[in-house]
Amino acid sequence: MAAQITAEPVTARTFLAMHSGTCSICEERYAAETPIISTPYGWAHDVCPEPKPLGAVCAGCFTEIALNGECLC
Ligand SMILES: [Zn+2]
Ligand SMILES: [Zn+2]
Repeated sequence: MAAQITAEPVTARTFLAMHSGTCSICEERYAAETPIISTPYGWAHDVCPEPKPLGAVCAGCFTEIALNGECLC
């Protein structure tokens, strides 16, 4: 089964979205033709910060850090 093409490459890192979708980092919608990047969590805005590796822990409170890199402490 061929994977559905959802984006076309612009640079080695950035793709142009062919359909609207939801950013996996900030969880806001992006429109078709928005520059996006592929992350381990799915497509995300190319302007969103790269997500922290899974299991990254806050140095302040030692809880796991959310995908957007922010901690509630
Ligand atoms: Zn985003
Ligand atoms: Zn913290």
